[in-house]
Amino acid sequence: MSKAIIHQITVPTPFAVGDAHLYLIKGDALTLIDAGTKTKQAWEALLAGLKKHGYYPDDIEQLILTHHHPDHIGFTDEFPRLKAIYGHPLNDVWLKREEAYFQRYEQFFYDLYKESGVPESYQAFLKTLRAPLRFAGKGELSDSLLEGDRLPGHEEYRVIETPGHAQSHLSFYQEETGAFVGGDHLLSHISSNPLLEPPVEQGRERPKPMLQYRKALLRCKELDIHTVYPGHGPIFSDAAVLIDKRLEKQELRAERVKDILQEGTKTAFQVCEQLFPNQIEREFGLTMSETIGQLDYLEDCHKIERIKENDILKFQIKSE
Ligand SMILES: [Zn+2]
Repeated sequence: MSKAIIHQITVPTPFAVGDAHLYLIKGDALTLIDAGTKTKQAWEALLAGLKKHGYYPDDIEQLILTHHHPDHIGFTDEFPRLKAIYGHPLNDVWLKREEAYFQRYEQFFYDLYKESGVPESYQAFLKTLRAPLRFAGKGELSDSLLEGDRLPGHEEYRVIETPGHAQSHLSFYQEETGAFVGGDHLLSHISSNPLLEPPVEQGRERPKPMLQYRKALLRCKELDIHTVYPGHGPIFSDAAVLIDKRLEKQELRAERVKDILQEGTKTAFQVCEQLFPNQIEREFGLTMSETIGQLDYLEDCHKIERIKENDILKFQIKSE
């Protein structure tokens, strides 16, 4: 088994997160892990990055995606001799721009926010949900990757499902060297936000990304990770230390949510306003995802309970 070399290529993004990294790996195929964001500046940076390693866009044979966000799937339709795109099956609705899915996506947030007590003035946010799509590429998966699969052309990498930040999120682990291509699951300089998404099948219960994220973190702690190759920020080691830090920070924030609920019964929106008074307007989607994630966590720990009053969902401290 070859210890494939991983080349990092960094491209700018128009998003608050800043630069994004792609990884070039050469095995039985020449593969890019992730595909940047569709801007002129990112394409120029990608060309320069490929050239530095002696390659051109024509040489790229496969794309493997860590998740479907627009800072990771930008150039899926820009490589002239691409033979295959691989990723979690949930990438496909984004790559194919499935209208039925987007309508379901918007309806999901409309219903969730209504139930969460979000005032009308915030509903404009729903109109912005599709805006980042213009930075995303189109296409279709050639084949799906799932837990335990080996990367096609790079058998030394095993697929680890790491949902939370995105339902489509995968990481790729090379047991022999401990290399871990972790997308946005493990970032050293910022915590990766677990984000709300509708259920995969209509009518099912929605996923609980905070619980998924925690579970995936604990799983990754069991792996013998030597080096993390992240989607943003510096390459790093000591993943286990970082994982403990992330879990601890999340638990501390959950304590704050519990304190807020000690004052009385509240909607998710009311908790969010108190938890993020300075960010809620600017980062409405992120702060609501984080708040609902913390509420899911506290409910899962049996510390709080939900009550429904006139179609509005409220949370309260669970009586002993
Ligand atoms: Zn990202």
